[in-house]
Amino acid sequence: MSDSDLETLAARVRGPVLRPGDDDYDGERRGFQTGWCHEPTVIVGATGADDVRAAVAFAAARDLPVAVQATGHGLSVAADGGVLISTRRMTGVRVDAAGRTAWIEAGVRWRQVIDEVTPYGLAPLNGSAPDTGAVSYTLGGGLGLLARRHGYAADHVTEIDVVTAGARQRHVTAETDPDLFWALRGGRDNFGVVTGMRIGLVPVTRIYGGGLFFPAESAAEVLGAFAGWTRTLPEELTASVGMVPLPDLPVIPEPIRGRHVVHVRVAHLGDAVAGERLVAPLRAAGPCLLDTLAEMPYAKSDSIYNDPPGPHAYSGTNVLLSGLDEAAVKTVAALAGPDAPVPCVVDLRHLGGALARTPAVPSAVAHWDAPYLLRLLSPLDGLDRDTVRAAHRHVYEAMEPWTTGGRVLNFIYGDHATADEVRAAYEPGDHRRLTELKAVHDPANLFRLNPNIPPA
Ligand SMILES: Cc1cc2nc3c(=O)[nH]c(=O)nc-3n(C[C@H](O)[C@H](O)[C@H](O)COP(=O)(O)OP(=O)(O)OC[C@H]3O[C@@H](n4cnc5c(N)ncnc54)[C@H](O)[C@@H]3O)c2cc1C
Repeated sequence: MSDSDLETLAARVRGPVLRPGDDDYDGERRGFQTGWCHEPTVIVGATGADDVRAAVAFAAARDLPVAVQATGHGLSVAADGGVLISTRRMTGVRVDAAGRTAWIEAGVRWRQVIDEVTPYGLAPLNGSAPDTGAVSYTLGGGLGLLARRHGYAADHVTEIDVVTAGARQRHVTAETDPDLFWALRGGRDNFGVVTGMRIGLVPVTRIYGGGLFFPAESAAEVLGAFAGWTRTLPEELTASVGMVPLPDLPVIPEPIRGRHVVHVRVAHLGDAVAGERLVAPLRAAGPCLLDTLAEMPYAKSDSIYNDPPGPHAYSGTNVLLSGLDEAAVKTVAALAGPDAPVPCVVDLRHLGGALARTPAVPSAVAHWDAPYLLRLLSPLDGLDRDTVRAAHRHVYEAMEPWTTGGRVLNFIYGDHATADEVRAAYEPGDHRRLTELKAVHDPANLFRLNPNIPPA
């Protein structure tokens, strides 16, 4: 790529155009995932849709692949050359309180949406970590804190602005472009760069929620209690249970600091009286080290998971489970707990409810009937990715009697984004339809630095 090429591009965009060696190149390409990183030939720091259009046109004219990055939480296939469009400057949020919607731009994080909508008595359908990018999370489905009651975040999108492979800016709705609107919600980064979208909000001001922490030695009992308990729950309660090796850091409360713990997370759409009644059986599951369950404003709901806020290196994927019996919980507790060959963060999420129902406007997000999702994630400190993958594979193979074969796209990271894993994130017929639509909208597979859906 010549200097004059880059000068032409720089003249067409308002944001910075950076190449290796430029002062801001490293800062722009680095994100939350520190285990690997995009190494593009050029980065466009987009300030709006026109910049995105110019960057896509530039890439398409030279047959260069396009990567997109908002925060780097979901980095899968890193660019080795090509054009990286960085959306972090696109941070507009416009709330329509009466219509219970918000228009969010590509670089917005959930924290900002939560802060802007909660003063109106509304909540978005965000997930566990407030620093993840709201647009990509939603395009990937979006499995949130209130998921069993309200379904996937993608089910609540009504309008999308996208720059497609032809460098065309399109305003896409269920009425204007039913196929593309269907494919974008679930196909995530395969059909273009989404510059903004309208998301639905729900009328929620307070929830009952928080965490229960048990020692890892009680893992089999607590996981068993969780399995029985979740079979009785109303949709108003969304919960998960994790096994987490916590670091020995002063920010972590003393009873759980530096310990391997079992962490039950609860978000209940109801008051403390109803919440207390529902969680009582689980509180009795074992000796509790710490209990943070309480009524809270929705704006504080990030305290439920308390995901690590700082950038780090991690690798992980997930499998959907058809059920959780005693043998299944014993297998997870034994193989992914403190005795696992690599430190494992386990996240076992209770699904069902609205997640299993076809939404009013269907999308490519698979609304599986699976009752649980099992995720494994490991920090890569001093560990190579192959070792971690092998350790995770060992657990997933042992769990095979309970797996459905399905996966959730948002939790497939890094080199797990293989053709097989990506295909497993969709209903088979839907995957075929996606490949056909990809052939229409991106026949040259310009958008291939992602969990890729190849053109049919
Ligand atoms: C700590 C943590 C907690 C999480 N919790 C949840 C959770 O509770 N529920 C859940 O569903 N997911 C969760 N996720 C997964 C997360 O939603 C996905 O990884 C999501 O893709 C992250 O988006 P991002 O913009 O933050 O990351 P990025 O890495 O910037 O983007 C991820 C991918 O999305 C694509 N992309 C980004 N912006 C656009 C765009 N504007 N148009 C098209 N494609 C785009 C890019 O190809 C990129 O590779 C979590 C992830 C982490 C690390």
